[in-house]
Amino acid sequence: MTDELIIGGEVIKKGERKRVLLDVAKLYDFTDMNIPIEVIRGKQDGPVLFVSGAIHGDEINGVEIIRRLLTKKALSRLKGTLIAVPIVNVFGFNTKSRYLPDRRDLNRNFPGSEKGSLTAQLAHTFMTEVISHCTHGIDLHTAAINRANLPQIRACLDDPETKRMAEAFQVPVMLHSSLRDGSLREATQSKNIPTLLFEGGEALRFNEKVIKSGLAGVLSVMRELGMLLPLKNKKPAKDVFIARSSHWIRAPHSGILTVKKKIGQRVRKGHVLGVISDPFGREKHELVAKRSGIIIGAVTLPLLNRGDAAFHVATFEDVSTVEEHVDMFEEQLDSDDGERFLN
Ligand SMILES: [Zn+2]
Repeated sequence: MTDELIIGGEVIKKGERKRVLLDVAKLYDFTDMNIPIEVIRGKQDGPVLFVSGAIHGDEINGVEIIRRLLTKKALSRLKGTLIAVPIVNVFGFNTKSRYLPDRRDLNRNFPGSEKGSLTAQLAHTFMTEVISHCTHGIDLHTAAINRANLPQIRACLDDPETKRMAEAFQVPVMLHSSLRDGSLREATQSKNIPTLLFEGGEALRFNEKVIKSGLAGVLSVMRELGMLLPLKNKKPAKDVFIARSSHWIRAPHSGILTVKKKIGQRVRKGHVLGVISDPFGREKHELVAKRSGIIIGAVTLPLLNRGDAAFHVATFEDVSTVEEHVDMFEEQLDSDDGERFLN
């Protein structure tokens, strides 16, 4: 790493903490749009980690995770560099939308291009000004609107460094996920920057458990990478479980959903997850699990058209152990003890 780090024309020296407004566009009413970034550089060299939120503008748990991260005193003894970007899609964040004003999904438009659409330009600016400096990354998401997700890590777990970060994050469920065209994760992987995607909760809502687990996860990854000092009373690492496949249960019929199983619960093949019926409560149709697993995502809006995805089930080799760990994890986040590992 050279001694000078330049983002958005601002020079950030070792030992400095600086806020940068990264220009991304001038709107047709002359409003300047910029991405707010906080850069913290330790005096000592170390990894350069980006933590990003709201790539989908309505996914705000990550914004809160980064806000809380930036208040941590431990950052004063940081080794390496933290580049915190609470709101990447500033357009969508202001309109409370997943998308940009050109109706594109930023996470399908990486690495972008300088002369492309508004979305492609933002992706390009983010790649050149932020990502190009980084050695590691964590991208924070929630489920899309009207859905909720169990806190989970999605990452390419075949890469040893990514797997090391994923295990350090310490959520009970990890999904090995093949890359999606145009995602930030795909773009960073092609540059050999190990990147985790954290998912939890729902769009346009704060979820305290998700925020706590996300914050604890980011801090734990920073400790694993040597950016922060290890905890004095280090707890033994908890087991994490990798799902290599997952499937969606879709509505077999249009109607109103009565939920029978919730997020985090174990289901067996053939279990009824919900029942759809007509506005009179008749004409019932069951939504049935196709394989055994754990529910890692579900709709929160119970009005479904035929074919709408309603439950997301991840499959594991030993489902019962995973369920136990999901329960323990939730209890720990509820208890005072959960606070301990957040400091
Ligand atoms: Zn997202």
